[in-house]
Amino acid sequence: MAKRVESPSSINTFKQCKRKYYYNYIKKLPGVPNIHQVRGNMVHTILENFYDIDTSSFTRENYQLKCKEIIQKLSLHYWKQYEPKIKALHLSQDKERFYFEESMLMVMNWMNHFITDMEKVMEKNTISCQESFIKLTPVREQKYMSEKHSIRGFIDAIHYVEDEVHIIDYKTNARFDMKDSIKLQLAIYSLLYEELHGKMPHKVGIFFLRNKLKVMNVDQELIQLAKQEIELIHGHTSITEQEIDYPRTVTGLCKWSTGKCDFYDTCKPHSPINN
Ligand code: SF4
Repeated sequence: MAKRVESPSSINTFKQCKRKYYYNYIKKLPGVPNIHQVRGNMVHTILENFYDIDTSSFTRENYQLKCKEIIQKLSLHYWKQYEPKIKALHLSQDKERFYFEESMLMVMNWMNHFITDMEKVMEKNTISCQESFIKLTPVREQKYMSEKHSIRGFIDAIHYVEDEVHIIDYKTNARFDMKDSIKLQLAIYSLLYEELHGKMPHKVGIFFLRNKLKVMNVDQELIQLAKQEIELIHGHTSITEQEIDYPRTVTGLCKWSTGKCDFYDTCKPHSPINN
């Protein structure tokens, strides 16, 4: 059987619950859209497009205000654009307002960090706002594919900081720890980058949009972690596509107070017949 093309999400799903992987990636059952996904996509779009703005009227005196005004306008624009998807979730008006305001807070938090970076870059290099803006503009939404490892990934932002390469992913998570699934995602990005460019990135990290940027150094140990996990999943998924070979892992992630796994109703993990 040919190797499947995996991704950080598919590997993390496989590690969490093989049955969930089976439903999602082999049977390709549709997932259930939720506000966290929709809002996450919207925020990513806002940040991606922010770097394309016209900065010609920026001065040292006015750029902070202009950046804030622009990102607010972009947020309103994309909230409108995502409205059909948000409406389809049938949230109450209060909930909708809550998620809108929370999204604005995340974007403004990111903007405050961006402004701090702009200040540092201008001061250090004695350059204009426009030049600093260009210096801080990352390569965005880059697709990486490895035939050798049969894996692909989309990297949110690649920053060139002095002589260093930093790979950054944006997350709207409520928790800010570098849990194992995040570390593995970053390890895979490091491997993909190294394979294409012939050298490792220097740092990888997550911009937790409710908090701040957290980075870690890239070393051979991290690359090795990615290789091991990729080999493990291929060792399983390239041998069998039978449901029985993808057992359930029943945990609190099947169903919790405010939600459930996308495939809960198909899986019925708590049905006596499955236990
Ligand atoms: S409901 Fe639980 S056991 Fe079933 S697929 Fe989802 S996570 Fe796995």
